[in-house]
Amino acid sequence: MLKELPKSIESRSGQLLIKLGIIKKHGKGIYFFTPFGMHLINNVKKELKDKLAKNNFSEIDIPIINLKNNFDDNGFFVSKDIDGKFYFTSGPDLYLYEDFLKSFIKSYKDLPVEFYYITKRAFNDNKASEELLNSMVTEVYKSFYVSTQENYEEKIKNYTKESLDFLKSFGIKPIAAKKNKDSQGIIYGWANRKGREKSAYCSECNEYFDINYMEIIKKSGQDEEILEVEKIKTPNIKTIEDLQKFTGIDIKKLIKAILIKVVDNNYVIFIRGDRELSKEKLAKLIKTDQNLIKQAAEEDLEYMETIGGFVGPIGLKNCQLIVDEEVEYIRNGVAGANEKDYHLKNINYDRDFENSICGDLVVAGGEDLCPKCGSKIQLHNYYKIGELKDNTEICDKTTDIKYIDNTGREKLTYKIENTLDLYKIISVSIEETEENLSKLLPWDTQILLLKPDDEDACMLSEEIYVKLKNAGRNPLLDDRNMKVGHKFKESEMLGLNEIIVIGRRAEEGIVEYQNHDKNHKAEITLEELEKLLIHE
Ligand SMILES: [Zn+2]
Repeated sequence: MLKELPKSIESRSGQLLIKLGIIKKHGKGIYFFTPFGMHLINNVKKELKDKLAKNNFSEIDIPIINLKNNFDDNGFFVSKDIDGKFYFTSGPDLYLYEDFLKSFIKSYKDLPVEFYYITKRAFNDNKASEELLNSMVTEVYKSFYVSTQENYEEKIKNYTKESLDFLKSFGIKPIAAKKNKDSQGIIYGWANRKGREKSAYCSECNEYFDINYMEIIKKSGQDEEILEVEKIKTPNIKTIEDLQKFTGIDIKKLIKAILIKVVDNNYVIFIRGDRELSKEKLAKLIKTDQNLIKQAAEEDLEYMETIGGFVGPIGLKNCQLIVDEEVEYIRNGVAGANEKDYHLKNINYDRDFENSICGDLVVAGGEDLCPKCGSKIQLHNYYKIGELKDNTEICDKTTDIKYIDNTGREKLTYKIENTLDLYKIISVSIEETEENLSKLLPWDTQILLLKPDDEDACMLSEEIYVKLKNAGRNPLLDDRNMKVGHKFKESEMLGLNEIIVIGRRAEEGIVEYQNHDKNHKAEITLEELEKLLIHE
């Protein structure tokens, strides 16, 4: 168990979890929890459930198949029941439980509703790495609150605080990144240079923002005379960088097109050449779930009458144009001509983007400013551990839940969704410091039986185990038959505060007691041990 580990283990938490036999790797991003490891994950769940029960949440279980509603997506298992409802597997779990809620929320008397469930989740496009920090499959807790507007703001504050406290209870120093200035949504995270997500930190406001959500403070437009559209030959141009090199034009004047498909609808999004599309902002603008946003396929491009690498706003067919607000300010920009090897010069928003939707659609960068106070920001990497969605983010028409208020009028409910990733909690806690492992484990004391084949020692260890159990403590008895050196090494890695070593003086009823917090180590009798551990 303690042999040298392959270099393919990328994270400190992965090292420890694999060394101790808590998880076992099956494939890239795919891990088993061993019988020993189940104690850890079950303990995290228990702590969470206890906390939720205290806050009056009820647990429910939702099926892993889901209501298909009115979207289609190849690759999902699809079925139809006798009532004519369609279902599919995986993907967003929103639709099914919304349907469940609608079935019994009729009037204000049915509110509030506070439910949660714990479920497995698999990621389609996950570039799995760093063991449980970015695994293909994880387990998440998700709670949801549905009520009237009353107490809504207070509830959000409450959930945020409770979630952060829960993370702190495992030794994590979390950050709460805001989504944008006006949203009450939060991303719970852990700042670390290796993290995949990026936040923008404003030292004036002492506030983090997630760059996928943060509003872009608009810069004023370029003051230039609008010119006639001109076609230019741009052979073999594949990317925006190629185009910049070829034309020598400032990248902020180039207009990048991104082609996506949501269900059966094609969208083309235009953003400035130096920007990246934020799926989060796009999902909110077109009111969809971001898991449903897919890249357009070759046949979609044909249907829109365009060519990859040469997509532009003029002459596109069968799709909705969406324009980022920054593109509005570009004067005489360059975009594709929807024709192989050609681009168009002097493209201008007011004249050339017919029937388009406009919005803030890009990921914030280092040059952007704090949306609250306009100061400079610093970008920091972080790991996302969970998320709180406020009512404005759960605004799909299909998920609206109505109720009749006490005057007989129909009203919309207010909703909050709160999610935490349990695998992330485990791995981030250990990444913070390996000593946190003991906070994740259910045990408070370890009994180390050094010679399991010695009858006296065996009986003594069992006696101590039972006494501790009866006293309401939670001991771990290591009675495996293995080398003493390995036992001590593993015990050190587990890091429980109190350790009882049953060794060579077992016959005399004497054990070694260690308390790490108190830096105390002594050989004591069973009686003395009882006083120390049970009656204190
Ligand atoms: Zn600020």
